[in-house]
Amino acid sequence: MPATLGNYILGRTLGSGANSKVKLATHKDTQQKVAIKILKKSDTQNDAKFLELVLTEVKTMATLSHGNIVNFLEYNENATVKKEDGREVPVIYIVLELATGGELFDYVATTGRFSEEIARFYMKQCIEALNYVHSKGVTHRDMKPENLLFAGDFNLKIADFGFAAPIEGRDGSGFNKTKLGTESYMAPEIHMRKPYQGASVDLFATAIILFIMVTQHPPFTRALPDDPFYRLICANRADLFWKAHSKNKPGNADFFSESFKSLITSMLQFDPTHRLSMADVVTHPWFSGPTATLEQAQAEFAARKAKIDEEANLKQQQKDAQKQMAATGGYAAQRRAYKGAHRGEGDEE
Ligand code: ATP
Repeated sequence: MPATLGNYILGRTLGSGANSKVKLATHKDTQQKVAIKILKKSDTQNDAKFLELVLTEVKTMATLSHGNIVNFLEYNENATVKKEDGREVPVIYIVLELATGGELFDYVATTGRFSEEIARFYMKQCIEALNYVHSKGVTHRDMKPENLLFAGDFNLKIADFGFAAPIEGRDGSGFNKTKLGTESYMAPEIHMRKPYQGASVDLFATAIILFIMVTQHPPFTRALPDDPFYRLICANRADLFWKAHSKNKPGNADFFSESFKSLITSMLQFDPTHRLSMADVVTHPWFSGPTATLEQAQAEFAARKAKIDEEANLKQQQKDAQKQMAATGGYAAQRRAYKGAHRGEGDEE
């Protein structure tokens, strides 16, 4: 009997986060395939704050519905996983629309950087969805390539609203205050623990994602004036920032288009009031450049996915082999057993 949860039959693990495991699941009656985010109750039952966070994620997601967002389907705070061996584990679960294509992070990390045409295609989808999220009064606060997933048809989907908050701030001031998110994508004002505007910090992180798509590496380690790369932006020396990043790239100084450099530089400004707003971003000339079609993106990403799957299979095989080795006492023990067995045979003769 496969493991089950509510009306779902659980399948393989799709990914895991700090507090959850996300599994592929199939509805028992409708056969609909979904992703289920499972949070173990034993880890969380004494933690009211944690439950509050989960509820915030659920409530936020329930207000959103967009083609480029992982849509919310169902939530259960009092459920039980029935394991294959009959054990029962109390859990909280969130049922989400399935994104079978995997994380944008893996595509860049494993299969290399994107052309500007492809990056533009996906950035348009990302910005459109983010604009929608902001228009619904929500800030995501954890924009990063690990939280941008691909649907089976290779359309982009923003995932993980675990850190989402009202864009107006909890006190209606228009500012949020809690320092959270992921270090390397945080805007300087978050690092410096200043009140910050959700739309501005989401766009800041999105500029970093775009830079990574096109180069396969981040623009800086941390957005603070002591960072060797970010320092150049803070000092208004974007020319030196781009010179440094163009070094050793194909075409050197010609690697980045002028409109790309202008867009990124103005989205990554130190002073939030000097950054492009969402309205400025969507009308920036970079977005009018040549853009891949969905069909082109699908063809390219199907090939990239095959490579990712191949690497994942290889890793899994290595893991399985290591596990088997450990279970049989390791290579040395196997060698001894093998030798012993053969010596034994020989000794008898
Ligand atoms: P984090 O520690 O990053 O905050 P989390 O516990 O909030 O993680 P998610 O980021 O929502 O969990 O999900 C973890 C991973 O599970 C994702 O990076 C992705 O690989 C996979 N995943 C999440 N949602 C889906 C989905 N709807 N379809 C397919 N895979 C998904």
